[in-house]
Amino acid sequence: MNKIYSVCWNITEKCNEFCEFCYRTIVDDLTLEKNKRIADKLIEYGVEKITFAGGEPLLYSGLFDLAKYIKSQNPNILLSITTNGLLINEQIVTLILENFDWITFDLESTSIEYHKQVGRGEKHLPKTLENLNRFNGKINIKINTVATKQNINDIPFIFNLIQVFNVQRWKIFRYYPITYKAQDNKDYFSITDEELEELKQKILQVTVNTQIQIDFNDYKEFKTTYFSIFPNGTLKDNSGKVTCNILNDSVADCIKSIDLSHHIVRKKVFEKFTNKKQK
Ligand code: SF4
Repeated sequence: MNKIYSVCWNITEKCNEFCEFCYRTIVDDLTLEKNKRIADKLIEYGVEKITFAGGEPLLYSGLFDLAKYIKSQNPNILLSITTNGLLINEQIVTLILENFDWITFDLESTSIEYHKQVGRGEKHLPKTLENLNRFNGKINIKINTVATKQNINDIPFIFNLIQVFNVQRWKIFRYYPITYKAQDNKDYFSITDEELEELKQKILQVTVNTQIQIDFNDYKEFKTTYFSIFPNGTLKDNSGKVTCNILNDSVADCIKSIDLSHHIVRKKVFEKFTNKKQK
């Protein structure tokens, strides 16, 4: 029987970046009250970790109220936010540190030009470095990188940028031509199995003595790793078909139709590298 421990909650599909490898599906956000009802179900089920993603989760106006609500119901749930970081200012830094245990930033290259070329914009790289400085040592930090044909040779050099910060994890995702723009641009971005393997070897060489946990996520495992809730409360099975809406159905019923065979592997990696929240 499927058992989930963590949830990837795409709280909004609104975004202020325009990545050419983006695969979000555009649906409406729910109200804060409805999202609290979803949170109640996740808490009652016994979920241990919730990652707010998107879109850009900081564009959901109820985000911090929802996070506070979840922590008030169960302070032991780990809360994580995956953000492109553009909206972060001093006030948001404080709110994130008050409410979240983990923060994940996207970093695709050491080049401003590459971030511009893929739609993240020229501010993305300097803003990410500024944010790493702001959060350094105050919260668990993770970096996500999407490996494409266009940045594959530069990815090992990202390590030089992040190793000076107190980063706990670095996850490299193989570009996944699943839906939306990601599907349209598959010829431009796709990498082969051999290129992925070569990248892994290069990264393992440059990171040999690091304390940073390095993970690779091949798209072959993508659908069976994450329990993802969409902004309108729906969940999809592994073929992409909507199978339930968590507002109306129980968590246990929602997971029945989804193959989550890689979910538990992720739990072990995550537990090993999770520190207690540092305030
Ligand atoms: S990949 Fe993420 S940051 Fe980029 S456009 Fe899509 S939702 Fe926004």
